Amino acid sequence: MRIDELLKRKKITLSLEVFPPKSSEKFEETNRAAREIARLKPDFMSVTYGAGGGTSVFTAEIAAEIQRDFGVPTLAHLTCVSSSREHVMQVLRDYREKGIENVLALRGDIPPEGRKYHDYRYAVELIRDIRANGDFCVGGACYPEGHVESENKQDLHHLKEKVDAGLDFLTTQLFFNNEVFFHFLYRAREAGITVPVIAGIMPMTNANMLKRSIAMSGTEVPRRFRAIVDYFGSSPAAMKQAGIVYASEQIIDLIASGIRHIHVYTMNKPDVAAGIMNNLSEALK
Ligand code: FAD
Repeated sequence: MRIDELLKRKKITLSLEVFPPKSSEKFEETNRAAREIARLKPDFMSVTYGAGGGTSVFTAEIAAEIQRDFGVPTLAHLTCVSSSREHVMQVLRDYREKGIENVLALRGDIPPEGRKYHDYRYAVELIRDIRANGDFCVGGACYPEGHVESENKQDLHHLKEKVDAGLDFLTTQLFFNNEVFFHFLYRAREAGITVPVIAGIMPMTNANMLKRSIAMSGTEVPRRFRAIVDYFGSSPAAMKQAGIVYASEQIIDLIASGIRHIHVYTMNKPDVAAGIMNNLSEALK
């Protein structure tokens, strides 16, 4: 099923993200986690794409299997900056052959050793290529607090360009402060961006994960959340519980404030995904 249709049809949606393994030895373990998460019956699942593009077959396999075995629609990610155009076209053919209708079109991070391929500079070029090569539903990424590389506030101008190139929806980078998201959404609408924006929420269930995420995304950590991590961070079980509760509260506030589409970065943890789904079982109806 196409995600743009799903977003139109359902009043509230909750989707869950999984990431593929880095090597084939880990495939079974990751696939098991993805299948457990699929059993929770989210509205759709997204499957990320390894940074260098080397794990694209795992993305396609996991996404296809979830659709086939659980009837859960999937969104397969695709990055371009570390690939040739030829490789990107091959991946798209593979997605199509496996019945994947939804693609999240991303640039990907620029590798520390520099670019190996020069076919793509920005996600907008990939979006144009996907549009020209089949009838996919295409999503893109956006950053309520600005992309880490962006020094000025040009992000919205470039975001509008991406949407105009043919995006059906956007998914946000994680954020912990809903006010940041509301402000971003207001500015995006003012800039003429009218596609659905799915709010990305990451349950922070351990203190190290928080440090890594802040380093990667530059996300603001509200005082309330910092206090939780300071107090519960050294107790794994309590931190997990507190992280699930914080994320659930964030989602409840978003829904109560009129936000209809939520995406949860599960970090391949079925128990965390289940904790959130349980907390929200009535709120999502
Ligand atoms: P772009 O939209 O190309 O933007 C990148 C930067 O370039 C921004 O600062 C933008 O303002 C600027 N820019 C854009 N166009 C222009 C232009 N014409 N001129 C000058 N500047 C411009 N990474 C993975 O490797 N695999 C994944 O599966 C993955 N999934 C993700 C899912 C979500 C929801 C999000 C938010 C991110 C994900 N990422 C993933 C990370 C993403 O690849 C990185 O954040 C990457 O650095 C930027 O990708 P983008 O598609 O947003 O890039």
